[in-house]
Amino acid sequence: MTAEHTDGRSILIAGGGIGGLSAALGLARAGFAVTVLEKAAALGEIGAGIQLGPNAFHAFDRLGVGPAARAMAVYIDQLRLMDAITGEDITTIDLGDAFRARFGNPYAVVHRGDLHGVLLQACREQPRIALRVSSQVAGYEQDGAHVTALLASGEHVHGAALIGADGLWSAVRRQVVGDGPPRVSGHTTYRSVIPTEQMPEDLRWNAATLWAGPKCHIVHYPLSGWKVFNLVVTYHNDAPEPVAGKPVAMDEVMKGFEHINERARKIIRHGSDWKLWVLCDREPVPNWVDGRVALLGDAAHPMLQYMAQGACIAMEDAVCLAAEMGERKDDIEAALKRYLAKRVLRATRVQLQSRAIGEHIYHPAGNHAVLRNAIMRAKNSADWYETLAWLYGAETAF
Ligand SMILES: Cc1cc2nc3c(=O)[nH]c(=O)nc-3n(C[C@H](O)[C@H](O)[C@H](O)COP(=O)(O)OP(=O)(O)OC[C@H]3O[C@@H](n4cnc5c(N)ncnc54)[C@H](O)[C@@H]3O)c2cc1C
Repeated sequence: MTAEHTDGRSILIAGGGIGGLSAALGLARAGFAVTVLEKAAALGEIGAGIQLGPNAFHAFDRLGVGPAARAMAVYIDQLRLMDAITGEDITTIDLGDAFRARFGNPYAVVHRGDLHGVLLQACREQPRIALRVSSQVAGYEQDGAHVTALLASGEHVHGAALIGADGLWSAVRRQVVGDGPPRVSGHTTYRSVIPTEQMPEDLRWNAATLWAGPKCHIVHYPLSGWKVFNLVVTYHNDAPEPVAGKPVAMDEVMKGFEHINERARKIIRHGSDWKLWVLCDREPVPNWVDGRVALLGDAAHPMLQYMAQGACIAMEDAVCLAAEMGERKDDIEAALKRYLAKRVLRATRVQLQSRAIGEHIYHPAGNHAVLRNAIMRAKNSADWYETLAWLYGAETAF
């Protein structure tokens, strides 16, 4: 570590996930020394696929990783919504030239490990960033001029500011907001990966496909240069406890999908090594900042995955934070307040809308589903671009 990292002027970041590494890159590019404090013994990402809207690509460019990020992505042609009961198409959003021209960037899917790897490599190449593993942040103290991260090991790390990018169960949030454990949604998500040759041939679409059924849905898309299909299936079974990454048998997964169309159900049978998550989010809050401490990504605004935006919004946060801090190097508290003011409503909108579309698009039954189909069928791709402009447009992202 350089002297800058140890003299108390470094910006400390709790968490080396997609949000924390993006913040590190942004802040280093704005001229700050940065120390990332990651709890785990190694930096990495679990899980397989992740969807990236054009807003993620706007962020990659501002973080200086645009070409590397573009090189690892699979560019899908469509977002496709299917009725999991009737097996019919409901609507598709075309992601081709008109979409790219409208938003200035593509829609893509990537492997989480590849995305994290691109950010990590860029951090490693940046001399202003020090990456520390096995460094769990338990809390912080501040005195108006400095912040001290209190590590679980008992070590104290001094810095000029602390960014809590430590995820859903954030220890930094516990002190900044103090709103207790996350809200358990009762939605159980099962994830698997299927080698492409085992995916039913008539469903090998170059699309992120959503089969929406009563209290359940299936999502699949090609990944890793078309070697595999990412498969994520969710059952709203009112699961009471949070769970993350527990191995689960196929028969258990199938239980939530007995009532849907055979064409959709048979996809699940091709999965293996299933793992289970019980999804959580939190109520939006207005106070992600406490003096020289700020929250970012899931620590600030954890959301259900139904807009496929948690990581995208975390990267946007990082770009905004770096811009505000870069402009106000001598007044970090004011910069953090401006960051909060710029981000909070946008993140709140995505948090609340993610819940709402879970209820009204992903999981309705009966007349509710018929109404969904009618409303969504009435829109063409150009209509969808207008609907999504607030989210995907570069002019609104930061
Ligand atoms: C099923 C599912 C599908 C999803 N699909 C998408 C999608 O398609 N598109 C999308 O944009 N988003 C998606 N998301 C959301 C996305 O995964 C998250 O929003 C994103 O990973 C959040 O990044 P983060 O860096 O804020 O938090 P995290 O990824 O949780 O990273 C937090 C990091 O902090 C570390 N840490 C935790 N506590 C401490 C501590 N006390 N001290 C130090 N380090 C600590 C952790 O080890 C971890 O490395 C999905 C989520 C789920 C569950």
